[in-house]
Amino acid sequence: MVDVILTADKTLMSNYHNNEFLGFGTCAPPNFIPEWLYSYLFFPSLKTKKGLPTAAPYGLRKTEAQLLKEGFQVETVSPNHLDNYLNNAKVLGIHTMDPFGLGPASTTLAALFKKEPYLAKHFHTLLNSPELTKAKQKGLKVIVGGPGAWQFKYREKAIKELGIDCVVEGEAENIVGKIFRTALEGQELDRHYEVGVGQAPTLEEIPDIVNPSINGLVEIGRGCCRGCQFCNVTLRPLRWYPLDKIDREIGVNIAAGKTGACLHSEDVMLYGSKNTMPNEEEIVQLHEQVTKQCTDVSWSHCSLAAIASNPKLLSKLSELILQNQNWWGAEIGIETGSSEIAKKIMPAKAHPFSADNWHDVVCQGMGIAHDNRLVPACTIIVGLPEETEDDILKTMDLVDDLKDMRSLIVPLFFVPLGKLTTEDWFTKTKLNGLHKKLLIQCAERDFRWIDDLIDISFSGKWYQSITKEFYKGFSAIAKRKVRQIE
Ligand code: SF4
Repeated sequence: MVDVILTADKTLMSNYHNNEFLGFGTCAPPNFIPEWLYSYLFFPSLKTKKGLPTAAPYGLRKTEAQLLKEGFQVETVSPNHLDNYLNNAKVLGIHTMDPFGLGPASTTLAALFKKEPYLAKHFHTLLNSPELTKAKQKGLKVIVGGPGAWQFKYREKAIKELGIDCVVEGEAENIVGKIFRTALEGQELDRHYEVGVGQAPTLEEIPDIVNPSINGLVEIGRGCCRGCQFCNVTLRPLRWYPLDKIDREIGVNIAAGKTGACLHSEDVMLYGSKNTMPNEEEIVQLHEQVTKQCTDVSWSHCSLAAIASNPKLLSKLSELILQNQNWWGAEIGIETGSSEIAKKIMPAKAHPFSADNWHDVVCQGMGIAHDNRLVPACTIIVGLPEETEDDILKTMDLVDDLKDMRSLIVPLFFVPLGKLTTEDWFTKTKLNGLHKKLLIQCAERDFRWIDDLIDISFSGKWYQSITKEFYKGFSAIAKRKVRQIE
């Protein structure tokens, strides 16, 4: 038994049936589907061995690797088996994605359904569980980190209320050891530690994961050069992992029997590039290397401008990826159809093209993605600062022009992040008639594609044909509900 344990709530300790798209389901609040069935469909628990999950969120694996590197005795434990480990533990690290449902996807759904999303609900269930409360009374220190740590800035009181000793925000490799050591020694911790940009680790300082990550996710780089004002990532330096580092992490997953790889960066198309033009040689080499070892490849994010800047490159990558699969997915930010807004808050998003041509860049990139069986889960932001009715109409025109391109388009309420932290949140009460029409337009469009996406996601997996019908049933009920609201 070890004195440092790491965990995450149920919504994060899942492989989402090996389909990252299903992970979006965790942003929804409890709804017309019974909770046990919903969690089985969208975030089933991972298998465990003596309470240790067979995989864990990548960010948690990085923390685990850093602590191991610094000599800590540490285990990553399933939230369903915490009680077996808490007796001996002195420090518990919890990874969180969206602790208060303030992330753009969950804030939108929570506002519409007037309930907190599953992600937030299970984070609170974990923090308030009787076994954790008992362990805290016996002196356990609780440290929370991960991509959702920023939300504690808006909920400072909750740190104390939830019995958290320290929240760590940012790229923490260089300071996490110090914080855990301070906790182990029983000394006072800073309530909220924000890692400065100058403290971000260099490539050499970022350790390789030691144990498998969920769905074979491996980072290929950090940071982004586009500088969108509403984004936190843009404040971080751009670094690309060398091929041998990526190879070693994929090796960790393969050794554990995970043959899929989800390549993670803010723009996979720009792997190895110092600017907004893809580095053809580097990205092709990366995919040659990955597809030799992995049977199922996906991307976390990419940009339409990079796709549109070199259509032949996407075809080349598609040929490599589709050797063993019939589609792959990526999250892509469209954000707006208005070039006026694009010029104001994300002037480099269209680069190497001009933001004046944002509508055409999006259409071109989406068309190329469709032809090559890259399926984007796109986001658009509702209620951006200074947005006019004309801007919303332009976004609606764009959504209409994308109707025949296989994808999902998810409207998200504006959340003040990055350089726009002083702006107001967008809330349901600010929705005007056009916003509502836009939300309905996206929902109708997505329902048109969802059955097709369910079919291609489950094709070749005969054993999941029954589950597939459940998703289709869920989609049909959701469609009916949306039509009732309409
Ligand atoms: S392109 Fe994406 S990751 Fe990069 S700054 Fe813009 S929103 Fe952030």
